[in-house]
Amino acid sequence: MFKVGDATITRIEETYGACYPLLQIFPEFNGAHMAEHRGWLAPHHYDAASGLIKLSVHSWLLKAGGKTILIDSCCGNNKIKPGRPWWNLLNVNYLERLAAAGARPEDIDLVMCTHLHHDHVGWNTQQKDGKWVPTFPNARYVFNKPDIDYFSKIDADPKEGPAELGTFRECVVPILEYGKADVIEGAHRINDFIEIDTAPGHSPGHVFFKLECKGQRAAFIGDVWHHLLQVYYPDWNFPKNSDAAQAKVSRRKVLDYCASSGALVMPGHVGLPFAGRIEKTADGYRPDFKA
Ligand SMILES: [Zn+2]
Repeated sequence: MFKVGDATITRIEETYGACYPLLQIFPEFNGAHMAEHRGWLAPHHYDAASGLIKLSVHSWLLKAGGKTILIDSCCGNNKIKPGRPWWNLLNVNYLERLAAAGARPEDIDLVMCTHLHHDHVGWNTQQKDGKWVPTFPNARYVFNKPDIDYFSKIDADPKEGPAELGTFRECVVPILEYGKADVIEGAHRINDFIEIDTAPGHSPGHVFFKLECKGQRAAFIGDVWHHLLQVYYPDWNFPKNSDAAQAKVSRRKVLDYCASSGALVMPGHVGLPFAGRIEKTADGYRPDFKA
């Protein structure tokens, strides 16, 4: 558990393991990079035997100002994920882990999605009697309008849809239809503690959440970077961006914010220790994530 002022932050793991080939994700990576970064890459961020990078899929459970907030809701169980065997047809005790961290589904006040990709919305809903219903019955769900618009369009296109392996219509549309969504547009303040700021590029509506409590800060950055290599090399995009050039601009914006504010950074997929800080160097940035 992490403490930021009076706020507590707990990581709720769905999966953590080796997945994509490093050279497929970052074709820029070469022997000199390996020589420079070998010391920290394995075993938590890279599996040397297979050449695969290691990623975590998790939510952040935030308790701040009397509110219980779930940030990003992972893949969900029993979803078909073509080309992603490590996330296909999961059967994970995610809700039990959430309960063990002190939050039953009915305790969640807010679900906040950094963006609407399939691995960030999965537990928004559950299938009951053939219908997709909100998993967190008392929660408002915060979505950013540009992502709603973008994925609605893809979902409605018979050639491109269903959007996000079906999760858009299973895990986002029902929340809208039940009237449980608070659709914001761009930068937005949630309460005294939490502010939403924009970081488009990985998706058009990608946002990050700034927490400030008793003078201490944290930043929930979703997929602004997936892997710590991208802190050293902010121009290295993870694949699948709505706007690759904009994704790099947003990455530098968020790196700047994290370095200048001293915020504890909670990314969506970075491996052990899962959270850390960003330092500005003479020519860029360096992660201070110590396992
Ligand atoms: Zn993701």
